[in-house]
Amino acid sequence: MLDLGNRKSIYQPEQQGLKFPDLPEFDTPAEERKHRKERLVAACRFFAQQGFDYGFAGHLTIRDPERPELYWTNPMAVHFANVNMSNLILVDHKGQVVEGEYAVNRAGFVLHANVHEAHPDIIAMCHAHTVYGTAFCALGRPIEPITQDACAFFEDHVIIGDEAGAVAVENHAGSNVAAAFKGVKAALHQNHGLLTASRHSIDSCAFWFAALERCCQQQLMVDATGHKQTYVTPDRARYSREHVGSEYIGWLHFQAVYEQLAKEQPDMFD
Ligand SMILES: [Zn+2]
Repeated sequence: MLDLGNRKSIYQPEQQGLKFPDLPEFDTPAEERKHRKERLVAACRFFAQQGFDYGFAGHLTIRDPERPELYWTNPMAVHFANVNMSNLILVDHKGQVVEGEYAVNRAGFVLHANVHEAHPDIIAMCHAHTVYGTAFCALGRPIEPITQDACAFFEDHVIIGDEAGAVAVENHAGSNVAAAFKGVKAALHQNHGLLTASRHSIDSCAFWFAALERCCQQQLMVDATGHKQTYVTPDRARYSREHVGSEYIGWLHFQAVYEQLAKEQPDMFD
């Protein structure tokens, strides 16, 4: 183990006075709510930028800081690129919209509400029907540690085969997904698509979702070469996961994304 002192990660500078993202702190729940909503909007814009849209499919959630039984999510049938502060909706576990003007995505409700209810520690979730992730989910295979980036998911994701391919609009479908999510940050829902969960932030959740999609793309590319693949050994893969695959690291990656979006898409805050 590396001795990091007071630092959360090896990436945090030891040298004082340098510009580096700080984890946010809040004086009131209202401040924290505004922050979470801004980051949720940015995560949706990031998904649009990455081409993760597929009609109305895809949903991102973050718990309300004061009322954790309620969660903020993107509105049904609004493109990720058009999500902003004023069209987010607040939904309860039964799928009732308690704040906001838009409807909720039924499939989103079933999957996310069940996971959130079963795991009080999970505060954020992301799901979308991406090209490579969905294709990879047809194989029923795990993400292999073929790169340092892929090591972030080593022993930190599950494959959910139950209900494979059936649209998740029934409540029991969501409960099967929820059971699988214990202690991991990602799931490959067979014949459906990718899901990520975070015990830290929507920032981390959205970044790891994009990273997972990228791993699926890279694995398919490597498979397509037909060449023999070499895997990172389990002990090295665990070491890498610990240092480059944590929630904090996911959050840190997303700060660069957030700054770029805030500069180029100020209508996020409308
Ligand atoms: Zn879906």
